Amino acid sequence: MTRDAIRSIQTGLNTLGHEPGPIDGLYGSRTERAAESWLAAGGKAAPAAAPVPAATKPATSAMIYQGSARHPVREIVVHCAATRPDWMEGRPLAEKIAEIRRWHLANGWKDIGYHWIIDRDGKVLAGRSETTIGAHTVAQNAGTIGICLIGGHGSAETDSFARNFTPQQDITLRQMISAIGLRTAIERVSGHNEYAPKACPGFDVSTWLKGA
Ligand SMILES: [Zn+2]
Repeated sequence: MTRDAIRSIQTGLNTLGHEPGPIDGLYGSRTERAAESWLAAGGKAAPAAAPVPAATKPATSAMIYQGSARHPVREIVVHCAATRPDWMEGRPLAEKIAEIRRWHLANGWKDIGYHWIIDRDGKVLAGRSETTIGAHTVAQNAGTIGICLIGGHGSAETDSFARNFTPQQDITLRQMISAIGLRTAIERVSGHNEYAPKACPGFDVSTWLKGA
Protein backbone atom coordinates (compact mmCIF):
# COMPACT_ATOMS: atom_id res chain seq x y z
CA MET A 1 0.00 0.00 0.00
CA THR A 2 1.24 3.49 -0.78
CA ARG A 3 1.76 6.04 2.00
CA ASP A 4 -1.11 8.04 0.50
CA ALA A 5 -3.44 5.04 0.79
CA ILE A 6 -2.40 4.47 4.41
CA ARG A 7 -2.83 8.18 5.11
CA SER A 8 -6.40 7.94 3.74
CA ILE A 9 -7.11 4.99 6.01
CA GLN A 10 -5.63 6.82 9.01
CA THR A 11 -7.76 9.88 8.26
CA GLY A 12 -10.84 7.65 8.10
CA LEU A 13 -9.99 5.94 11.39
CA ASN A 14 -9.39 9.33 12.97
CA THR A 15 -12.71 10.65 11.64
CA LEU A 16 -14.51 7.72 13.23
CA GLY A 17 -12.78 8.20 16.60
CA HIS A 18 -10.46 5.17 16.49
CA GLU A 19 -7.30 7.19 17.19
CA PRO A 20 -4.60 5.91 14.79
CA GLY A 21 -2.04 8.46 16.03
CA PRO A 22 -0.29 10.81 13.63
CA ILE A 23 -1.56 10.77 10.01
CA ASP A 24 1.89 9.86 8.67
CA GLY A 25 1.16 7.18 6.05
CA LEU A 26 3.03 4.57 8.08
CA TYR A 27 1.23 1.40 9.20
CA GLY A 28 2.56 1.30 12.77
CA SER A 29 1.20 -0.32 15.92
CA ARG A 30 -1.20 2.56 16.72
CA THR A 31 -2.69 2.41 13.23
CA GLU A 32 -2.97 -1.36 13.55
CA ARG A 33 -4.76 -1.09 16.92
CA ALA A 34 -7.07 1.58 15.50
CA ALA A 35 -7.89 -0.66 12.51
CA GLU A 36 -8.66 -3.55 14.90
CA SER A 37 -10.89 -1.28 16.97
CA TRP A 38 -12.64 -0.13 13.76
CA LEU A 39 -13.24 -3.76 12.72
CA ALA A 40 -14.47 -4.63 16.25
CA ALA A 41 -16.98 -1.77 15.96
CA GLY A 42 -18.29 -3.32 12.74
CA GLY A 43 -16.65 -0.66 10.59
CA LYS A 44 -18.42 2.15 12.38
CA ALA A 45 -17.51 5.00 14.70
CA ALA A 46 -15.87 4.15 18.01
CA PRO A 47 -18.57 3.49 20.67
CA ALA A 48 -16.97 6.13 22.90
CA ALA A 49 -17.10 8.83 20.20
CA ALA A 50 -18.75 11.91 21.62
CA PRO A 51 -22.20 12.93 20.38
CA VAL A 52 -21.95 15.42 17.59
CA PRO A 53 -23.40 18.93 17.76
CA ALA A 54 -25.67 19.92 14.88
CA ALA A 55 -23.56 22.92 13.90
CA THR A 56 -19.84 22.80 13.34
CA LYS A 57 -17.67 25.29 15.16
CA PRO A 58 -14.84 26.63 13.02
CA ALA A 59 -11.49 25.23 14.05
CA THR A 60 -9.18 27.83 15.52
CA SER A 61 -6.04 27.24 13.52
CA ALA A 62 -6.14 23.87 11.78
CA MET A 63 -6.48 23.99 8.01
CA ILE A 64 -6.44 21.47 5.20
CA TYR A 65 -5.03 22.69 1.89
CA GLN A 66 -5.78 21.14 -1.49
CA GLY A 67 -3.73 20.92 -4.64
CA SER A 68 -0.49 22.57 -5.59
CA ALA A 69 -2.08 26.05 -5.27
CA ARG A 70 -2.89 25.11 -1.65
CA HIS A 71 -6.57 26.05 -1.61
CA PRO A 72 -7.74 26.17 2.02
CA VAL A 73 -10.69 23.87 2.72
CA ARG A 74 -13.56 25.86 4.21
CA GLU A 75 -16.61 23.99 2.95
CA ILE A 76 -18.19 20.55 2.81
CA VAL A 77 -20.53 19.74 -0.08
CA VAL A 78 -22.94 16.83 0.47
CA HIS A 79 -23.99 14.56 -2.41
CA CYS A 80 -25.87 11.34 -3.00
CA ALA A 81 -25.10 8.48 -5.37
CA ALA A 82 -28.71 8.54 -6.69
CA THR A 83 -28.84 4.77 -6.22
CA ARG A 84 -31.91 2.77 -5.19
CA PRO A 85 -32.13 1.75 -1.50
CA ASP A 86 -31.30 -1.87 -2.36
CA TRP A 87 -28.51 -1.07 -4.86
CA MET A 88 -25.72 -3.71 -4.54
CA GLU A 89 -27.28 -4.76 -1.25
CA GLY A 90 -25.06 -7.09 0.77
CA ARG A 91 -21.99 -6.28 -1.33
CA PRO A 92 -18.93 -4.88 0.48
CA LEU A 93 -18.66 -1.09 0.43
CA ALA A 94 -15.33 -1.44 -1.39
CA GLU A 95 -17.20 -3.01 -4.35
CA LYS A 96 -19.73 -0.19 -4.34
CA ILE A 97 -16.89 2.33 -4.33
CA ALA A 98 -15.28 0.48 -7.25
CA GLU A 99 -18.55 0.78 -9.18
CA ILE A 100 -18.87 4.52 -8.43
CA ARG A 101 -15.20 4.97 -9.39
CA ARG A 102 -16.00 3.24 -12.70
CA TRP A 103 -18.80 5.79 -13.35
CA HIS A 104 -16.46 8.66 -12.53
CA LEU A 105 -13.67 7.30 -14.74
CA ALA A 106 -16.27 7.10 -17.53
CA ASN A 107 -16.78 10.87 -16.98
CA GLY A 108 -13.11 11.33 -17.82
CA TRP A 109 -12.04 12.00 -14.22
CA LYS A 110 -8.84 10.43 -13.04
CA ASP A 111 -10.36 8.88 -9.92
CA ILE A 112 -13.51 8.81 -7.82
CA GLY A 113 -14.66 12.43 -7.45
CA TYR A 114 -15.71 12.37 -3.77
CA HIS A 115 -13.48 12.42 -0.71
CA TRP A 116 -15.77 10.28 1.46
CA ILE A 117 -18.61 7.84 0.81
CA ILE A 118 -21.15 6.78 3.46
CA ASP A 119 -22.99 3.51 2.94
CA ARG A 120 -26.57 2.73 4.01
CA ASP A 121 -25.35 1.15 7.26
CA GLY A 122 -23.24 4.18 8.18
CA LYS A 123 -19.88 2.72 7.17
CA VAL A 124 -17.40 5.12 5.62
CA LEU A 125 -14.87 4.63 2.87
CA ALA A 126 -12.27 7.08 1.62
CA GLY A 127 -12.33 8.29 -1.98
CA ARG A 128 -9.82 11.03 -2.82
CA SER A 129 -7.41 12.23 -0.18
CA GLU A 130 -8.69 15.40 1.51
CA THR A 131 -5.60 17.23 0.25
CA THR A 132 -6.54 16.46 -3.38
CA ILE A 133 -9.07 18.68 -5.17
CA GLY A 134 -12.24 16.66 -5.75
CA ALA A 135 -14.50 16.33 -8.80
CA HIS A 136 -18.03 16.58 -7.46
CA THR A 137 -19.41 20.14 -7.84
CA VAL A 138 -18.76 22.23 -10.94
CA ALA A 139 -16.75 25.39 -10.10
CA GLN A 140 -16.75 24.53 -6.37
CA ASN A 141 -14.17 21.76 -6.19
CA ALA A 142 -11.13 23.73 -5.01
CA GLY A 143 -11.35 24.20 -1.25
CA THR A 144 -14.28 21.86 -0.64
CA ILE A 145 -14.64 18.31 0.61
CA GLY A 146 -17.24 16.17 -1.18
CA ILE A 147 -19.14 13.58 0.86
CA CYS A 148 -21.45 11.16 -0.95
CA LEU A 149 -24.33 9.27 0.67
CA ILE A 150 -25.22 5.95 -0.96
CA GLY A 151 -28.91 6.06 -1.94
CA GLY A 152 -31.13 8.97 -2.92
CA HIS A 153 -32.61 7.57 -6.14
CA GLY A 154 -35.66 9.59 -7.19
CA SER A 155 -35.23 12.07 -4.34
CA ALA A 156 -36.28 15.73 -4.48
CA GLU A 157 -34.40 18.63 -2.92
CA THR A 158 -37.45 19.30 -0.73
CA ASP A 159 -37.45 15.76 0.75
CA SER A 160 -36.52 15.14 4.37
CA PHE A 161 -33.22 13.36 5.02
CA ALA A 162 -35.08 10.39 6.50
CA ARG A 163 -37.15 9.86 3.36
CA ASN A 164 -34.14 8.72 1.33
CA PHE A 165 -31.40 7.90 3.83
CA THR A 166 -30.95 5.83 6.98
CA PRO A 167 -30.54 6.89 10.64
CA GLN A 168 -27.02 5.38 10.55
CA GLN A 169 -26.12 7.64 7.62
CA ASP A 170 -27.50 10.61 9.56
CA ILE A 171 -25.26 9.82 12.56
CA THR A 172 -22.16 9.19 10.46
CA LEU A 173 -22.61 12.31 8.31
CA ARG A 174 -22.92 14.50 11.43
CA GLN A 175 -19.85 12.82 12.96
CA MET A 176 -17.84 13.35 9.79
CA ILE A 177 -18.83 17.02 9.49
CA SER A 178 -17.83 17.53 13.10
CA ALA A 179 -14.53 15.66 12.70
CA ILE A 180 -13.58 17.51 9.50
CA GLY A 181 -14.36 20.74 11.38
CA LEU A 182 -11.62 19.86 13.85
CA ARG A 183 -9.08 19.48 11.05
CA THR A 184 -9.95 22.56 9.00
CA ALA A 185 -11.98 25.73 9.56
CA ILE A 186 -15.31 24.76 7.96
CA GLU A 187 -17.47 27.83 7.38
CA ARG A 188 -20.22 26.26 5.32
CA VAL A 189 -21.86 22.88 4.82
CA SER A 190 -23.88 22.84 1.62
CA GLY A 191 -25.72 20.52 -0.71
CA HIS A 192 -24.94 20.03 -4.39
CA ASN A 193 -28.45 21.41 -5.13
CA GLU A 194 -27.32 24.85 -3.91
CA TYR A 195 -24.88 25.03 -6.84
CA ALA A 196 -26.69 23.19 -9.61
CA PRO A 197 -30.31 22.69 -10.68
CA LYS A 198 -30.49 19.13 -9.39
CA ALA A 199 -32.00 17.28 -6.44
CA CYS A 200 -28.64 15.95 -5.17
CA PRO A 201 -28.26 15.16 -2.27
CA GLY A 202 -32.05 14.84 -2.03
CA PHE A 203 -32.67 17.05 1.00
CA ASP A 204 -32.05 20.61 2.18
CA VAL A 205 -28.69 20.47 3.94
CA SER A 206 -29.04 23.62 6.05
CA THR A 207 -32.47 22.53 7.35
CA TRP A 208 -31.07 19.07 8.14
CA LEU A 209 -28.04 20.59 9.91
CA LYS A 210 -30.38 22.48 12.22
CA GLY A 211 -31.73 19.10 13.29
CA ALA A 212 -34.87 18.90 11.16
ZN1 LIG B 1 -24.02 15.72 -6.29
